[in-house]
Amino acid sequence: MKSGSLEKAEEYIRKLETECEAHFEEMDYIYVNCMRARYCHLCGNISMRDQYIADIQNQLSGDVLILDLFDDLYDFCELMLEIDRGDVCRNIGEKLKALVEQTGIANMQRKMTALEMDYVKKTKDRERYLKTAGRFYELTEIVEQENRSMIVNMLYLRKSLERARERCRKLEEDAVELTEKSERDPLTGLANRYRLTNDSEKIVEQCFAEHKPLSFEILDIDYFKQYNDRYGHQAGDDCVRAIAALIRQMESDQIFCARYGGDEFVIIYSGMSAEEVCERAEKLRQDVMALQIEQRYAEGSFGVTISQGICHDIPSNGNKNWDFLHVADQALYRVKRRGRNRLCMTDIHGREIEV
Ligand code: GH3
Ligand code: MG
Repeated sequence: MKSGSLEKAEEYIRKLETECEAHFEEMDYIYVNCMRARYCHLCGNISMRDQYIADIQNQLSGDVLILDLFDDLYDFCELMLEIDRGDVCRNIGEKLKALVEQTGIANMQRKMTALEMDYVKKTKDRERYLKTAGRFYELTEIVEQENRSMIVNMLYLRKSLERARERCRKLEEDAVELTEKSERDPLTGLANRYRLTNDSEKIVEQCFAEHKPLSFEILDIDYFKQYNDRYGHQAGDDCVRAIAALIRQMESDQIFCARYGGDEFVIIYSGMSAEEVCERAEKLRQDVMALQIEQRYAEGSFGVTISQGICHDIPSNGNKNWDFLHVADQALYRVKRRGRNRLCMTDIHGREIEV
């Protein structure tokens, strides 16, 4: 109706009557009648319009929650002023006003005062008009103040939300950092035993599925107990860190490294031939010697050295990570017996592989 499309308005009113009326409650009749009155007025059907106006007045005489119909009745009152039915407007307006005053909502009070001004203007009561206009001005100030407070509150709310979001982000970061920490050895930054267990299981499964060669190396620092006794625990830590740094440099898609515990490390090579693995392991051994960390008690004059035991094979059904580790440990034991600072590679059955 407001956009001037009377056919559409008629169509909707008919739909309300045919599809919805069965579910109407008392209040619904009032707002639909408000609509019908305005519609008949726009169509020029004055007798029907006045019939609806009478109906509405009747319906409002009962016990109705008219505040719930505020917008509809307000619009209806405006129509009443338009057609010089100030009596109906005053009657309904007074009831509405009393209720609106109780709510204390400045915006609604201001709207009612605007309606009152329109009404008083028609009565030509200048004194009352000025008084009402003054009240309207006061309420406008209050509404503006409320709007300003609302904006301030909204800004505050937005800031609080941003802060909460920031805290959430920080918590997520902390969680990632904690997970990362829980999987890393604090001294060397290498994967710890927990992560070794998890990742090595997956690597074995993958190599088994893809029928790829797999090597587990355990390496151990030679005579490290004596090193600690001679140079102190701090120097021992530095030595572990220096060797770990060399091991970390080997990390890649195919090479996984972890600190196994104490002076022992594990390196897992996947999809690499025995030759390639021996080459990388041998290079590591040379690199450790090249660090030239003084170690008086070592045999010969190599400084700190490492011993390496490697188990190399294509995993077969049922092979577990611990099978590979256990065999690598046995190979390491052989190296230690043979004098240290060298490597030994065997297959999963402990048969030595000459490269
Ligand atoms: P081997 O050549 O047979 O391996 O002799 P080893 O003395 O290295 O053997 P052992 O396993 O008996 O000694 C390892 C020593 O490593 C024991 C401990 O004092 C030292 N150790 C283990 N973890 C750490 C660590 O985090 N820091 C330091 N400084 N020392 C460590
Ligand atoms: Mg050792």
